[in-house]
Amino acid sequence: MFHIFLHFIVPGVVAGLFFRKRFWFAYLIMIVTMVVDMDHLLANPIYDPNRCSIGFHPLHTIIPIVFYFVACFIPKTRLIGLGLIIHMALDSIDCQVTNGVWYHITIPSAISLEKSISLSRYYHTNLTYEVSLS
Ligand SMILES: [Zn+2]
Repeated sequence: MFHIFLHFIVPGVVAGLFFRKRFWFAYLIMIVTMVVDMDHLLANPIYDPNRCSIGFHPLHTIIPIVFYFVACFIPKTRLIGLGLIIHMALDSIDCQVTNGVWYHITIPSAISLEKSISLSRYYHTNLTYEVSLS
């Protein structure tokens, strides 16, 4: 719950520090970027506290994040970019706090790890067999 609270507080602090003259406009644009969480609807289950959203949900992966970062440097898209980068940073911190990782470890790498474990078992068995033969 504290994590969701931060999604409302941090943009407010940034708007207060850097966009004081148009605080409400800046704050609202950054809050609206939370629609990026719509990509959770593609996942099953939609919400899983033990799953890190960074690197898992399509709009929370590295290529879109590069675009959010670039958007921070273009005056017209700066607030959208900032809102999204703050969002990604908070989600990543949340992953670190709850799961001890900064990003979701993709399933293919988990499979290959499993494969290499079973492969090492296979070689281990072969090795014992060879040793027993000689
Ligand atoms: Zn998110």
